[in-house]
Amino acid sequence: MKSDPIVIVGSGPAGLAAGLALIASGREVRIYERYANSDKVGGLINVWAPAVKALRSMGVDVDAMGLAPTHSSFHSASGHHRATVRFDSAINEEYGGYFFGLLRPDLYTSLRSALPAGTIQADTTVSSFIDRGDHVEVVFADGSTTSTPLLIGADGINSTIRPGLWGETPIREHNLQAILGNTYDIPEGVPLDQCIIRHSRTLQGSYAPFVHDGRPGIGWYFVEAWDPSTPPLSQAELWAHAKELAKDFPAEQQELVAHSEGTLVRWQIRDRGKPLKQWSKGRVTLAGDAAHATSPYAAYGAGMSIVDGYFIAQSLAEVDLTDSSAVAAALQHYDSLRVEHTTDQVQQAYMLGQLFHHSSAVVRPIRDFLLDRTPFLQKMVGEKSPGEIAKQISVMGDGIRGAA
Ligand SMILES: Cc1cc2nc3c(=O)[nH]c(=O)nc-3n(C[C@H](O)[C@H](O)[C@H](O)COP(=O)(O)OP(=O)(O)OC[C@H]3O[C@@H](n4cnc5c(N)ncnc54)[C@H](O)[C@@H]3O)c2cc1C
Repeated sequence: MKSDPIVIVGSGPAGLAAGLALIASGREVRIYERYANSDKVGGLINVWAPAVKALRSMGVDVDAMGLAPTHSSFHSASGHHRATVRFDSAINEEYGGYFFGLLRPDLYTSLRSALPAGTIQADTTVSSFIDRGDHVEVVFADGSTTSTPLLIGADGINSTIRPGLWGETPIREHNLQAILGNTYDIPEGVPLDQCIIRHSRTLQGSYAPFVHDGRPGIGWYFVEAWDPSTPPLSQAELWAHAKELAKDFPAEQQELVAHSEGTLVRWQIRDRGKPLKQWSKGRVTLAGDAAHATSPYAAYGAGMSIVDGYFIAQSLAEVDLTDSSAVAAALQHYDSLRVEHTTDQVQQAYMLGQLFHHSSAVVRPIRDFLLDRTPFLQKMVGEKSPGEIAKQISVMGDGIRGAA
């Protein structure tokens, strides 16, 4: 058994990070990816400090990633300040910030380039598994199999591994879509160190900086209520639609959209509804969206996925993989470190999406009056949630081989 590599299904942020973390802890790993080319398109993504800590411990060259540190604040579309994200100042200092913008493809490239050549086997779909007690048999779509001491389902929201462990759980449609774009043609007055999150009565319109190849840019996004059965828009239609949405927001958001031709992407927002209370069973576990798919309201799905990998490797650091009960206990420990925190974040992100985009027309003015004049949002997104994220830094301990 010792010579069989740990198998990870999926080469998104969760799979790549789990692979890197396990390799950093001395394990052999094989990542199977169903697509021949899984280089991701996409615009701005933000990561919080715990993901940066995890990436550093995995040997990722974080300085070369083009992370743009930003301060985040929430406002009404008409300019009323509602919340400023507050973060532990010592962490801020240590990491050069707490919230960072980068382009999604740059995240994937940095993770992939830190992996030893040959770790990822592309164009290979995993279709099922059987936990045989002393090993897991992994079954591929072509009927072939491989044996592993540990299987990690990092295969995204439509995971194949998750139902094999815990049965089917329905997708929860948020009936929301996000539209993202980016530009290097930055309008005057747009700050390069601020993530500005604004809400009109029905829309979110936001932007934040990133750096790509040393060049500063701004990524922007809208979130709006949307019927998932609506046919997709072409790039030109999407751009025209985004320009319409931008009219709810100040001039700089409109200019950003106007400068972003050809860069637009659209995402359907969904999660898995009722959260799992446990992810791991025997020699099999989950990471990333397979365990805790979340709305971008958390700006934390990829970040949580990366930190999952860190904790999997840390929980297993001293474990003999031939010892089934030790493997199962280590994975239970991983669950105990992750399930509650990620569930809270997923539920809060869902709730914010409903509050901002699915309140009835009668409730919206009252909601906005309260958001403008009470500390509700400051407490929730300015203090509670970032406080919980900051706590993860100490839970993470001194590194993959240094549990807290
Ligand atoms: C609009 C939007 C904005 C977002 N913004 C942010 C943000 O700012 N910050 C943040 O942290 N997160 C953000 N997220 C969330 C983030 O993108 C996800 O949480 C993250 O990509 C999840 O990573 P993953 O590796 O778990 O899953 P995925 O990225 O979905 O990767 C899963 C991989 O598994 C492969 N796969 C699936 N099934 C199989 C199989 N059977 N066999 C082999 N391979 C398989 C897939 O092809 C895929 O490559 C955002 C999400 C959206 C929709």
